[in-house]
Amino acid sequence: MSYIGRFAPSPSGPLHFGSLIAALGSYFQAKSQQGQWLVRIEDLDPPREMPGASSLILETLEAYQLHWDGEVVYQSQRHELYQEQINRWLQSGQAYYCQCTRKQIKASGGFYTGTCRDLALQNHQQCAIRLRMTHPIYQFEDQRHGTLSIPTALADEDFIIKRRDGLFAYNLAVVLDDIEQGITEVVRGADLIEPTGRQISLYQMLDAEPVSYLHLPLALDESGHKLSKQNHAKAIDNSNPKPALLDAMSFLGFDIDKEIQSASVEEIIEWGVQNWRVEQLPKATEITPIFSNRSL
Ligand code: GLU
Repeated sequence: MSYIGRFAPSPSGPLHFGSLIAALGSYFQAKSQQGQWLVRIEDLDPPREMPGASSLILETLEAYQLHWDGEVVYQSQRHELYQEQINRWLQSGQAYYCQCTRKQIKASGGFYTGTCRDLALQNHQQCAIRLRMTHPIYQFEDQRHGTLSIPTALADEDFIIKRRDGLFAYNLAVVLDDIEQGITEVVRGADLIEPTGRQISLYQMLDAEPVSYLHLPLALDESGHKLSKQNHAKAIDNSNPKPALLDAMSFLGFDIDKEIQSASVEEIIEWGVQNWRVEQLPKATEITPIFSNRSL
């Protein structure tokens, strides 16, 4: 079976150092196996998006010589695929409407325990849609980290597949898209280790071929927070990609020697493809990097 990987950024802002790690890691892993590398823009949540971020992200990938295969896919254009699956589950009784508020769930211990499961609520505007958890996943294998565990209460939860505000849930969209696009391996940041359990549950409920997982270490800022738009992570530089590229590659465990430092961006990427090994990745899932190039 040939390898198909992907990079799936949410356009909440321009790419920062943390998202560059995910882009590079997924690219090297795909290209070192002569695989395809797809790009999917996860524009599922318009209130959290920044106008123009999608095209900025694509421009950045091009500036870093990360060329994707095929057409870019936008989740905002795939609502039908998600809704059709939800309708099938509603009809079969696998999915149901739930009127619990976040506040109520918090007050009863933080996890949803099935309050609306057998109420046969009909659709009305204040309802979310949940999926009956028939295939809980308590652990899974990660290519670098070995067996990773998922908290039981999280794994057992009937989770939301469509929010009460009408937006589709991330886990559902990601899995339906990964299946539809023929993805064979998911390479992404370690912040997505926990949702992986639910995603594997979805594969099982959909009777789909499982994929393998590789979670990359997460870059933290000086105060120990994940780099994100909310934490004002700096956008990486499109006009001068080399400093951030070399920093990101040494973060990913490459031994960057003098010779490669003076190569072009294209040559550095090619060198990365040739020299990439999963075993070189640090074992830690979170790292606060210290770089002279100041790409953070
Ligand atoms: N869109 C998600 C993010 O930007 C990544 C989804 C994934 O790789 O599964 O955090």
